[in-house]
Amino acid sequence: MQNPFEKRFPSELNRDHEYFMSHAYNQALLAWEKDEVPIGAVIVQGDQILASAHNQTRSTQDPTAHAEMLAISQTANRLGDWRLNDCTLYVTKEPCPMCSGALVIARIQRVYFGLTDPKMGCLGGASNLAQLPESNHKFEAIGGLMEAENHALLNAFFEKKRAEKKVAKQRDRD
Ligand code: ZN
Repeated sequence: MQNPFEKRFPSELNRDHEYFMSHAYNQALLAWEKDEVPIGAVIVQGDQILASAHNQTRSTQDPTAHAEMLAISQTANRLGDWRLNDCTLYVTKEPCPMCSGALVIARIQRVYFGLTDPKMGCLGGASNLAQLPESNHKFEAIGGLMEAENHALLNAFFEKKRAEKKVAKQRDRD
């Protein structure tokens, strides 16, 4: 499925938050091309990207195949350690309950996300698993990074989906 958005090419010289989120955004574009909900994630240690992933629930028919879950597993495999103590996750949308829970278990240090999800987001949007009062592991979660771009991408995808559904319905009627 063709997507109307351009890949981002951030400068390697300036590895700031936008640099890493741009890589997550590019992962989201890959998801779109496979007709997956366009959400992408990268996990970073220092200034190195250890893992990049995008949503794959549809192609794998696996409800746990969210970008964040895949990136967490990739990172743990790579480090040979399930504790992602000094790692930061960048993800285009606020993580759901499953992914937020996994981030607590993985002891992630910090999370930056694009748009807030007031329905299912569990890093401050609908609830906040990063700051459970009695939890042994709390972490910082910062939303709103490249929010406009990430929002536009998801909106366009769902608009396209709705349009396709309408066409299919019309075809059934004719
Ligand atoms: Zn999730």
